[in-house]
Amino acid sequence: MAFDAIRKSQARVVQLLENSVKKGRLSHAYLFEGAIGAKQYETALYFAQMLLCQSDDKPCLTCHNCKRILHLTHPNVYVVEPIKTSIRKQQIVDLQIEFSKTSIEPGKKIYIIKDIDKIQVGAANSLLKFLEEPHDNIVGILTTTNRNAILPTIISRSQIVSFASLSSTVVEQDLIDVGYEKYKARILSHLTSSVNEAEEIASIDGFEEIIDFVPDMYDAILDETKSALMVFHDQGDFIVFDNVLSKLFMQCMILLQKDILHYFDGDMTHLVYEQHLDLISNLSQQKPKNRRIEELEHMLDVSSRLDRYINQRLAYDNLLYELERSE
Ligand SMILES: [Zn+2]
Repeated sequence: MAFDAIRKSQARVVQLLENSVKKGRLSHAYLFEGAIGAKQYETALYFAQMLLCQSDDKPCLTCHNCKRILHLTHPNVYVVEPIKTSIRKQQIVDLQIEFSKTSIEPGKKIYIIKDIDKIQVGAANSLLKFLEEPHDNIVGILTTTNRNAILPTIISRSQIVSFASLSSTVVEQDLIDVGYEKYKARILSHLTSSVNEAEEIASIDGFEEIIDFVPDMYDAILDETKSALMVFHDQGDFIVFDNVLSKLFMQCMILLQKDILHYFDGDMTHLVYEQHLDLISNLSQQKPKNRRIEELEHMLDVSSRLDRYINQRLAYDNLLYELERSE
């Protein structure tokens, strides 16, 4: 697991947790909240390791306890996660039964409830009783990516720990670490701030075609002997009327369009399609910056209405016509 990424991207959270462990000021329940991909659950496991690690430098990640927590085989760490889309009452009852037993191993007992926003009302009532009768030896960690959907009574009984959204650099590096080529990792990291979601996007049938099709389209826009409209009609058929692919296509077009604007500003560090530097440079010479901004606005508009168009093809034709128009 990418604990380095947690330490890097959630440095403030890690510091807060480390301090409370060092000073022995632990809350009975924590609510780890933040955007999708901010690693709330991974941090919950990391926190459990801090609490149960046997070495001086906690968590060492290598001792018997740290390893068992990572593999979810430590008897003092209990994880509850939604079954299908909800956390049911029986799961909370099971948790309470488990935690009322005398522990076999010394140290804190920790329960982690993943996606607490998905808890059913009956289950929430059982949990509230649990939260109202705190036990010194028990620490609860509730995680969520949707704080607004959580009952106020649960929020008021927890210490809220807010997670920063993962930066695209961290997501990009995480994807490279699990084997993605750099240019794909870079594009994916700009489509989502979640590594899991990025992997889902990468697995969409048509993803690879689209990320390569977008620079081809811009090539045709640049090349006066080619017609982007024709290229799209010939090769873009798989995109039209498929809402997932359409959205992806527009997102990638927007990324490349923004690259042109970055280029105008001399900002090379934020280029996404950086392997197409020549293309981007030529596009920046083809039309003035304000035209590129207008085009970007048109793209954002098309992108926001994709699923509402009666004639999606017409919307694409209009957009490509504007992109090809010289003045
Ligand atoms: Zn350890």
